[in-house]
Amino acid sequence: MRRDKLHQLLKSTFGHQSFRFDQLEIIESILDGKDTLAIMPTGGGKSVCYQIPALYSTGITLVVSPLISLMNDQVTNLAENGVSACFLNSLQDMRQRQEAEDDITSGRVKLVYVSPEGLISGYLGEFLQNIDISLIAIDEAHCVSQWGHEFRRDYSRLGELKELFPNTPFLGLTATADSKTRSDIATQLRMLNPNIYISSFDRPNIKYRIYERADATKQLDDFIKAEHPDDNGIVYCLSRNKVETTAAQLCELGHKAVPYHAGLPRQDRLDAQNAFNKSENIIIVATIAFGMGIDKPNVRFVAHLDLPKSIESYYQETGRAGRDGLASNAWMLYGLQDVIKLSRMLETTNASEAYKRVARHKLNSMLSLCETTQCRRYFLLNYFEEQSNEQCCNCDTCLEPADSWDATVDAQKILSTIYKTGQIFGAGHIVDVLRGSKNAKVIERKHDQLSVYALGKDKSKNHWNIVLRQLLNMGTIKITNWDYGNLALTEKSRGLLRNEATFLMRKFSEPTRRVGKSKVKSISASHGRDSLFESLKDLRFQLAQEKQVPAFVIFSDKSLHDMCHLLPRNKSEFLTVNGVGESKCENYAKDFLAVIESNATSSDDQATSAGAATTTQV
Ligand code: ADP
Ligand code: ZN
Repeated sequence: MRRDKLHQLLKSTFGHQSFRFDQLEIIESILDGKDTLAIMPTGGGKSVCYQIPALYSTGITLVVSPLISLMNDQVTNLAENGVSACFLNSLQDMRQRQEAEDDITSGRVKLVYVSPEGLISGYLGEFLQNIDISLIAIDEAHCVSQWGHEFRRDYSRLGELKELFPNTPFLGLTATADSKTRSDIATQLRMLNPNIYISSFDRPNIKYRIYERADATKQLDDFIKAEHPDDNGIVYCLSRNKVETTAAQLCELGHKAVPYHAGLPRQDRLDAQNAFNKSENIIIVATIAFGMGIDKPNVRFVAHLDLPKSIESYYQETGRAGRDGLASNAWMLYGLQDVIKLSRMLETTNASEAYKRVARHKLNSMLSLCETTQCRRYFLLNYFEEQSNEQCCNCDTCLEPADSWDATVDAQKILSTIYKTGQIFGAGHIVDVLRGSKNAKVIERKHDQLSVYALGKDKSKNHWNIVLRQLLNMGTIKITNWDYGNLALTEKSRGLLRNEATFLMRKFSEPTRRVGKSKVKSISASHGRDSLFESLKDLRFQLAQEKQVPAFVIFSDKSLHDMCHLLPRNKSEFLTVNGVGESKCENYAKDFLAVIESNATSSDDQATSAGAATTTQV
C-alpha cells in the first residue's frame, strides 16, 4: 500500500518508472522513523531519497546543503516538477527571508533548504522549533568528518540538532566511499543505530580510457572532434597556466571553451560557472578548483590532461560525467613528467612526513591504474573494496587489449632481491642493489656481494620502479613498515618465484594511433546529430532562456532521447517519457509534441522526395 503510493509519487512527480539502487529501501527506512545513512555514487539519485519522503509526510523536510549557490537551482528544479520548496540562507534580504518564513509557517512548502551555519545559529533553530519537521536530510554528509577529504567546520556542529529535534529522523547522504568516514558520519551526527545503505560505486555508463601523452592538444582535439563535437565536457589540467593556454587553443580549433581556476577574478569564475550551467555544447577547462557544486547532468566527457593526485580525486572528477546515466567518457592522458611534477609538488610542501607518506602511496596507486593491464573498472572498484567482474567491456583495456609484455623474469629479480636483502628495505634500495649501485648503504650492508647484485643494470631505474609499483599494486609484494616503506613478499610471490605464474605488464604504444584505431562509436554520432534530437535541444534551450533556468531543469538529455525513441503523439503518451511528471507534462507537452510532429512530417516529405536531386532542409 505504502509502496504503491511511493511508486506513484515517483512517476507522477518526477516521471521516473522505477526506483533505483537502494532508493526505495532508504525512503522506507526514513518513513519508519529510523536514522539513515545513504551512500550512493554521484549521479545515483540521492535527492529522490528525501524528496519523496517530503511529499509523503505531513510535515516539512529540512535539507542541509553546503552549496548556497545551488539552492536556487534546486528550488527551481522542484518547482518545475510542481513541488513547492524554498530556502533560507545568508544571501537573502529581509523581505525574501520573511516571505520564505511565511511560506514555511503557513505550510505552503514541503522542503526547505538551509545552510549548515544558518541552522546552528540560535535564531533559526528557535524558529524551526515550532514547525512540524518530518525529516532532516544532510547532503554531502562527509563534510562532518575529519577523515573525509572535504571537512567543513560549520558541519561539525550539526550533531547538536539531534538535541533540538530528538524525534525527527536524520538522513545523511554522501558519495564518499571509505568505511572510516562512513562510521564517523554516523557518530558525528549522533545517529541512533542508523540503517546504512551502500549502493554500488560502479558507474557503468562511463567508459574509462587512459593513453600516453604525445601531443596533448592534438590528441584532445581529435578525441573531441571524433566523439563529442556537440557535447558538454570538462577538461582538467594541473596548473592555472595550462588551463588558460588549453582553453585558448581549443577555441582556436573551433570549440567553445572557457577557462576556470582559482586565480581568476571572482566575477570571471562566476561567469564561467554560469556559462557552463546554463549553456550547451560547452567545454570548461579547469583546475580541480572547479567541481563542487557542478550539478549539470549531461556532461558527456571528462578529460584529464594531467594525472590527478589520487584515485579518489580521479573517481570524483570523472564521476561528474554522465550523471544522467547516458553513455559518457572519462578520457585521460598521462606521462612520466606528471609523476615528477606531482612528486616535486608533494616533497616541497610543509606537510608532515606522515601526510606525505600517505600522499605518495595514493599517487603510486594512481600510477598503477595507468600502468595496469587489468580492466580499469575492475581496478577502480577493487580499490574501493567492491567486488566486480574482471572484464567490464567498457574500458580501453577491455575494448582494445593493451599490448603487454612478459615481465615475469624482471618480477622474479625484484622478488629475489627483496628476499635476499632480508625484506626490510624500501624500493629505492632494492633498485639500487639490482642496478649495481656503489652507494654507501649498498656497500656497508655488503649487498654488492649478493647474487642478485647488478642483475638488472641493463635496465633503467624507471623501468624497475614501474615493475615494482605494479607488483605492489597486485599484492605480490606488500609494504610492512609505512615509516620506511619497507617491502616484503606475500603469498602471491611464491607462484611467481616458482615459475607457476606469469606477470604481464602494459607495453606503451603510440597513443595517437590507438585513438585513430579505436572503433568506439561516437556518442554524438549515435544520438546527437539526429535531427529530431537537435530540434528538441533547440526548443529546450529556447525555453530555458525564456525562463532563465539551466536547460536540464526543463528536461534531461535522457528525456529528449526518450522522446526521439517513443515519438509520443499526445499527452498521455508524453507522460510515458522518462522524466515527465504531471507538472512538466502540463507545461511542456504542447511545445514538444509540436516539434515531434513537425519532424515526423518533414521526414515523411524527405522520404517521398528521396529520388529528387536535392532536399531542402528547413
Ligand atoms: P546525486 O545527488 O546522487 O548526484 P541526483 O539526485 O542529482 O543525483 O540525480 C541524478 C539524476 O538521476 C537526475 O537527473 C535524476 O532525475 C535522475 N534520477 C534519480 N532517480 C531516478 C530514478 N529512480 N530513475 C531514473 N532517473 C532517476
Ligand atoms: Zn574493462
